[in-house]
Amino acid sequence: MKIIFHGAAQEVTGSCYQIITNSGSQFLVDCGLFQGDPNLEKINYKDFDFNPKNIQALFLTHSHLDHSGLLPKLYRQGFRGKIFSTRPTRDICKLLFEDAANLILDKYFKTGERPIYELEDAMNCVSLFETVEYGELKEFDSVKFRFNDAGHILGSAAIEIFIENKKMVFSGDLGNYPSPILKMPDIIKEANYVFIESTYGGITHESKEIRLKKLKQAVFNVFNKESTLLIPSFALERTQEIMYELNNMVEHGEIVPLPVFIDSPLANKITGVFKNYEYLYDKETMSIIKSGDDIFDFQGLVMTNTVDESKRINSVKGPKIVIAGSGMCTGGRITKHLKQYIEDPKNFLIFVGYQAIGTLGRKIFDGEKIVEIEDREFNVNLTVDAIGGYSAHADEPQTISWLSNFDKNMLEEVIVIHGEKEKGDALAKAIKNNFGFKTFQPKIGDELNIN
Ligand SMILES: [Zn+2]
Repeated sequence: MKIIFHGAAQEVTGSCYQIITNSGSQFLVDCGLFQGDPNLEKINYKDFDFNPKNIQALFLTHSHLDHSGLLPKLYRQGFRGKIFSTRPTRDICKLLFEDAANLILDKYFKTGERPIYELEDAMNCVSLFETVEYGELKEFDSVKFRFNDAGHILGSAAIEIFIENKKMVFSGDLGNYPSPILKMPDIIKEANYVFIESTYGGITHESKEIRLKKLKQAVFNVFNKESTLLIPSFALERTQEIMYELNNMVEHGEIVPLPVFIDSPLANKITGVFKNYEYLYDKETMSIIKSGDDIFDFQGLVMTNTVDESKRINSVKGPKIVIAGSGMCTGGRITKHLKQYIEDPKNFLIFVGYQAIGTLGRKIFDGEKIVEIEDREFNVNLTVDAIGGYSAHADEPQTISWLSNFDKNMLEEVIVIHGEKEKGDALAKAIKNNFGFKTFQPKIGDELNIN
């Protein structure tokens, strides 16, 4: 059998791994969008390097678009196989695909850029989903598989796949535990081949305590300056985590309630999905809910949906917090707010997620003093900070700890994927030093033969 790496190989986005068995069956693990670097984004517009009609099934680790975002294009190009995922992954994908299809259409009207898929493809593609529960051993076309909680976002999974007497484990994105709301990543003990993400190879995250302290300090700062704190946030997971943390601070009297705007219709819909899957929350969150507290509601919270509601945020005097997408400031309502607040030194901006190379978020994060937003230059005068602890990805010590559970005699090779070159190098080195496992860090287009 062989595995072909079509994305997230020596970089972070575009996860897509093709499995071709000795008997000729073809499967995919993930089919993600390339994001950030304009050269990589061009790949989104090309035909796939395989025929989508020949893929029998796809195993989807989670709903983040860099793992799922090309599924509607896969459908458009003839894929009609099954998409196996957890239930929250399917529900969130439906919302994300709908949103993405509308953005693509907007772009088409503005620039004439050919849409890679349309809303109809996106919705038809959702009908191919077949959902599974964590821990269930399932079988499809002589392939056995099992989804395990990866603790990364709601519904995320590390997937065990048993094919032709070999067992492969695809980590998907591994969680940065302990995370608010989510359970710890499940431990998996056996595999011949592990495909491990390396987003934060060589890096150790800030602790949970520092993360909370920094968020609390940021709230105090906007109080003192009676100003605005902007938090560019991914609509999925990060927004719900920040809401959870602010809810705890308000309910425990640690901060005085202040206006907190969740200025994202998509985030607000996704929060609705979270409420349907309380059984997947961790014990701590369940005990808060059992005590009678709604983790997604607190004094001062305003969820804005319409454009008018969003515009009215400007007229609310500080102190206030505005949480809006996109998480890397590549579009969405956060760019409108940045234009409004970026030049006033009294204001604050906090990054709570990964900023890919080439994005506006990365430029501000890297300290550029003048940035272009929607064809106009702005001076970056507000105070910029980042809370690394909010990353949804495991850091190197957490990844090494998760890998330490595998049976050393059974594991033949660890394939280091989903990380920029130097991050992957660092993780591969740590894997060799800790366990002596053979490692492989593929590039896009590389193949791995497994016999
Ligand atoms: Zn992810």
